[in-house]
Amino acid sequence: MKPIHVLAVTSELFPLVKTGGLADVTGALPLALAGEGITTTTLLPGYPSVLAILQNAQQIHIAPKFFGAPARLLRAEHAGLDLVILDAPHLYARPGGPYAGPDGADWPDNAQRFAALARMAADITKLQLPGLQPDAIHAHDWQAGLTAAYLAGQPRRPGTVFTVHNLAFQGLFPSTLLETLGLPPELFSIDGIEFHGMIGFLKAGLALADRITTVSPTYAAEIQTPDFGMNLDGLLRHRAGRLFGILNGIDCQVWNPAADHAIPSRFAATNLAPRAKNKRALQQKFGLHGTDEKMLLGVISRLTWQKGLDLLLPCLDELESLNAQLVILGTGERALEDGFRAAAAQNPKNIGCVIGYDEPLAHLMQAGIDALIIPSRFEPCGLTQLCALRYGALPIVARTGGLADTVIDANEAALANGAGTGLQFGPGHLRPALRRAAALWRQPEIWRKLQQNAIASDVSWQQPAKKYAEILRQVSR
Ligand code: ADP
Repeated sequence: MKPIHVLAVTSELFPLVKTGGLADVTGALPLALAGEGITTTTLLPGYPSVLAILQNAQQIHIAPKFFGAPARLLRAEHAGLDLVILDAPHLYARPGGPYAGPDGADWPDNAQRFAALARMAADITKLQLPGLQPDAIHAHDWQAGLTAAYLAGQPRRPGTVFTVHNLAFQGLFPSTLLETLGLPPELFSIDGIEFHGMIGFLKAGLALADRITTVSPTYAAEIQTPDFGMNLDGLLRHRAGRLFGILNGIDCQVWNPAADHAIPSRFAATNLAPRAKNKRALQQKFGLHGTDEKMLLGVISRLTWQKGLDLLLPCLDELESLNAQLVILGTGERALEDGFRAAAAQNPKNIGCVIGYDEPLAHLMQAGIDALIIPSRFEPCGLTQLCALRYGALPIVARTGGLADTVIDANEAALANGAGTGLQFGPGHLRPALRRAAALWRQPEIWRKLQQNAIASDVSWQQPAKKYAEILRQVSR
């Protein structure tokens, strides 16, 4: 197979900068694609935290005036990834996160900050930099959505794949910015970058890329319906022949219960007994009553409307009768944070809550809880259920998007066939699902079989990488 070179364009990349699953995907996919004969260079904004880590980066290009001030391209390698960093201090050298300042408010010039990223991706294809002549460009989410727009009209351009990780984040900005962003006015139309009178960065990617992918087959189907399409379902139906759903994997080195240094008691699929120690460590960490007699449920999540955790709060009155405890790790909307804090304060022996973002604790939770609850209203793919499967924590998931595609419900038929890797529930049915889980947990042999099935699920990047490789090859030129 002919080797091809891909330029990935993203605003987040694990392990350098992460706010969610996007970073996990962009950090892991290049390594998986290498096995398919595809080399990847990833273009990433030069946030201060990124530049601080990449101190040996080499300057490869200077743009004297780029979105109003000088910018540079730096090349670096990190964690097996080949990187090009857009060092544009006027756009990125500030405190806070990738999209918002320390006060949580979005940066007012996010349109410029991420248009610049896409513009540079397009410019790179003309710069003839050594080792940087991509056959295809893989742009991720609205932040890279304008890439195909900037490439439009360029006679010799690489093919483009646009991956949407979450249709809810659309990158909408006033049309008055058209000139500032250097976008060709003729693209401001229903077939291009215009979305209800605004410039739609995500819309641009969906309309103009040669192929669109999203992160699960079910989500690919759902977003073509008015219920999930966020006003883009018409466009997505129109482009259905170019739209593919490819499940995410997880990095099975980072998430490996047999060699995980974040957990006190490591374990292999063949022997799950050491999980008990992790459960005890968790109960201690969260200040819960330490016992093997109760099922330990967990939540690891952004606390937002999408994740449906407001639906869990009213079910907590049932923990006693379920003979269960709950540990929550998350951060997000104030009302949800307060709701779970209050629930923990009311029932401290059985509910523990850490408001914050804590990767090592997420590992310990996956290694010690019996089941992970994910009641999302929509979920493009979801990664936490994949980690849970790998760690033998049974996912209890809403039947939507990637959750529906990755968890096999332990219903009667599945149990009769020795199948099942977790539980699925339909809208409004979280409470019965928790009861069903409690009933299964009371039957240790069945539960252990389900755990073994879960651990045997293939959650690696191997199969997804093959599918991405096929699509990247289709567009490469
Ligand atoms: P999303 O990208 O919508 O937030 P995903 O399930 O796709 O949801 O990915 C979330 C990622 O972030 C997972 O790797 C998960 O373990 C991690 N995560 C989410 N919240 C926390 C938290 N509070 N602490 C540690 N890790 C978290």
